[in-house]
Amino acid sequence: MSPDPITPPPSEAETVLDVTGLAKSFGSTAVLTSVDLTLRAGRVVCLIGPSGSGKTTVLRSLNGLERPDGGVVRAPGAGLDIDFSGPVDDATRNRLRDLSAMVFQQHNLFPHLTVMQNVIEGPMRVQRRPREEVIAEARSLLERVGLDARRDAYPSELSGGQQQRVGIVRALALRPRLLLFDEPTSALDPELVGDVLSVMKDLADEGWTMAVVTHELAFARDVADEVLFLDDGVVLERGAPERIFTAPREERTRRFLERLM
Ligand code: ADP
Repeated sequence: MSPDPITPPPSEAETVLDVTGLAKSFGSTAVLTSVDLTLRAGRVVCLIGPSGSGKTTVLRSLNGLERPDGGVVRAPGAGLDIDFSGPVDDATRNRLRDLSAMVFQQHNLFPHLTVMQNVIEGPMRVQRRPREEVIAEARSLLERVGLDARRDAYPSELSGGQQQRVGIVRALALRPRLLLFDEPTSALDPELVGDVLSVMKDLADEGWTMAVVTHELAFARDVADEVLFLDDGVVLERGAPERIFTAPREERTRRFLERLM
C-alpha cells in the first residue's frame, strides 16, 4: 500500500530501490557507464557533479522517463526486479514509474489549470482516487507549504518559489514511495531558493526517501545521508557528506567543490 503522505513512511533502512550497473547511451554517446545506487527508506541521497555528468539521466531512468540500456533495478517492496539489458514490458515499466514522483527544475505545472487542479489531476485521472478524498489531501498538503489560500490561483499568479512548492505538493499527492528532485531550485531567483529547500528539508526530516540532484552544496551537506559525485557517467566518489565535503579523495571532486564553495 502506498504510504499516506501526511504520515510519511517510517525511517527504517529497508531498501526501497536498488540500482546496479545502470547504463545509458544516446546514439553512440555513453552517458551512464555503470552507476550503482541504493535508496533506503527514510534516507536522502544527493547527486552532485558537473553539468553533463549524467545526474538527470540517472533520475529519469529511475522514474521510467528514460529507458536504460543496461543495469538491474530492484524494488523489493514492490516485487520489482528489472534487468534492462533485456526486454522490459510496459506494465513493468509503469510499476517502476509509479514508485516515485519527480520534482523538476522547471515546475512543469499546467498553466491553464489552477493550483488545486494541478495537484489533483494525477491522483484523480491517473490513480482514479475519489475526488473528495483527493481534494482534502491536496488542501492539507498545500496548507503544509503555506499555499492553501492560493489554491484557486493560476501558476502565473505565483512566484517561482511558490510554483515550485506546488510542484512538490503535486508530487506528494501521488503518494509515491520515493521522491526524486532534479535541481528543483536552480531556475529560481536566489531569494526564493531558501523556501523550497526548507520544504525539502522538512520532508527529509519527516522520513521521506529522496534522491536529489542539486548544486546546493550546503543543503546536501546538511540533509544528505549519502552524497554521490558523478563525473562523465560514473560515480567517481561516494560517501557521507561530511567526508565528501571535507576530505574528497578524488582530484576531480576536489576541483568541483572548490569551484562551487
Ligand atoms: P546532468 O544532469 O549531470 O547535467 P544529463 O543527465 O542531463 O547530465 O546529461 C548527460 C549527458 O547526456 C549530456 O551530455 C547530455 O547532453 C546528454 N543527453 C541527455 N539527454 C539526452 C537526449 N535525450 N539525447 C541526447 N543526449 C542527451
